[in-house]
Amino acid sequence: MPAERFAFVDRDGTLIEDRGFVHRIEDYAPLAGAADALRLLIEGGYRIAIVTNQSGIGRGFFSEAQYAAFDAHLRRDFEARGASIEASYHCPHTAEDGCSCRKPAPGLLERAVRELGASLTQSFVIGDKPSDMELAARAGCRGVYVLTGHGEAQRHNLEGPIPVEADLRGAALHILRRERV
Ligand SMILES: [Mg+2]
Ligand SMILES: [Zn+2]
Repeated sequence: MPAERFAFVDRDGTLIEDRGFVHRIEDYAPLAGAADALRLLIEGGYRIAIVTNQSGIGRGFFSEAQYAAFDAHLRRDFEARGASIEASYHCPHTAEDGCSCRKPAPGLLERAVRELGASLTQSFVIGDKPSDMELAARAGCRGVYVLTGHGEAQRHNLEGPIPVEADLRGAALHILRRERV
């Protein structure tokens, strides 16, 4: 039986540098240790999916096709380093659209349940914004906050007892430590 445990990983500021509406391949910059972190999680029995808000599409800054090309580049690069990302879910809407998939709304994770058989109670959300942690709470996942990207600057907006780690590698080690207790 395939593992239903997922690490739902935010993209900008968690996996790659958040340079603001990143969509050009030349702006692709994976964070140090990110591929190692995903590999550790995979070895620990987790499957990996990206969950990302991409309002740059809704605002007309870039197209779905540009998003998809960038996503394919990112996943090829991680795959080449032993860190296979099974799925990538994105919300293309703006906050004003009132959709059900823009984080912290849980729509993207509900898709992962339907399409990938994810078990939310056994899964984690890792991200650099308090809204990622709100997503985890609303979806019934556990959250791990990272200080890369916007993490350090927005840390004061975290609500409740949430584990905080320096980066994705710290988050992966945190999750795997929890497994053993
Ligand atoms: Mg982010
Ligand atoms: Zn949406």
